[in-house]
Amino acid sequence: MANQLMVVIPCYNEEEVLPETSKRLVDKMNSLMERGLITEDSRVLLVDDGSKDRTWEMISELHKENPLFEGLKLSRNRGHQNALLAGLMTARNRCDISISMDADLQDDMDAMDRFIEKYNEGCEIVYGVRNKRETDTFFKRETALFFYRLMKALGVDITYNHADYRLMSNRALNALAEFREVNLFLRGLAPLVGFQSDVVYYDRSERFAGESKYPLKKMLAFAIDGITSFSVKPLRLITTVGIVIFLVSILMLLYALIAWLTGNTVAGWTSMLGSIWLIGGIQLLSLGIIGEYIGKIYNETKNRPRFIIDRYLNRRGDDPVIDQ
Ligand code: UDP
Ligand code: MG
Repeated sequence: MANQLMVVIPCYNEEEVLPETSKRLVDKMNSLMERGLITEDSRVLLVDDGSKDRTWEMISELHKENPLFEGLKLSRNRGHQNALLAGLMTARNRCDISISMDADLQDDMDAMDRFIEKYNEGCEIVYGVRNKRETDTFFKRETALFFYRLMKALGVDITYNHADYRLMSNRALNALAEFREVNLFLRGLAPLVGFQSDVVYYDRSERFAGESKYPLKKMLAFAIDGITSFSVKPLRLITTVGIVIFLVSILMLLYALIAWLTGNTVAGWTSMLGSIWLIGGIQLLSLGIIGEYIGKIYNETKNRPRFIIDRYLNRRGDDPVIDQ
């Protein structure tokens, strides 16, 4: 049974990898078509996330040369998650299945066969999961592991070592469209969509060329967004800390009273200084955490568009208006 596939790839300043990526995609798509896994009108949708280099020119050229490639140009850089969502929402109702992957060839394309097999077995969502992280730096590996553990501890359902290499059926895409949140963390949303799902393991290789678009600062912001978009446990933790400190303060008061009654009121400079810094630090941290959530509410209530499409290059002749 052949299904119409749409591969969605967000690209931000990827001129160095696009020639190789597109070549491999053509081979892969052809072989999938030959094997009868996907239909002849399957497509690759390259989403240009406001790149500052020649990425869009290259996408336009690819589209001109080969009808396999479609191009979507965002009005400006909106970040990986928004670019991916723009691509997926464009693919919605224009295909039977979508597969999202990165432009840098880190995700093994040969896993796509197994993705589609799982779909044919009845899965609506298939998660690509890395076998190992040998190609990442020690630092990236350890921080990623810590992040996944933290998310789990906070009660967020995400798949360990799953990035955004994922198959979603058109049904799953339509369900995803119902989630209107502006703070996007797609790998946390997919499990909320539900349906029958499975994982496929693959080896993740090194970035083919160019640099990672996720420096430490962006990684941290992504992690904080992920946590505060999906878990209110940090807020509860503040309450718990507050209760504990309150109980401790009662004990301290008792101690101070006894000391006063027994006449042992010598100035305790060290303990005083220590507690001031400790309580002050905890208060600031708590305020910061609450601020994170208020910031989220602020962004959600404004309900700004999650992406704005500048151009959509395709040969279907269909309405290029894409629902948010
Ligand atoms: N990307 C994007 N917009 C951005 C940053 C990244 O569309 O603002 C794309 C990028 O082109 C790539 C994917 O997101 O296809 C993942 O980025 P990258 O490979 O740099 O992240 P890493 O694999 O290092 O986590
Ligand atoms: Mg990468």
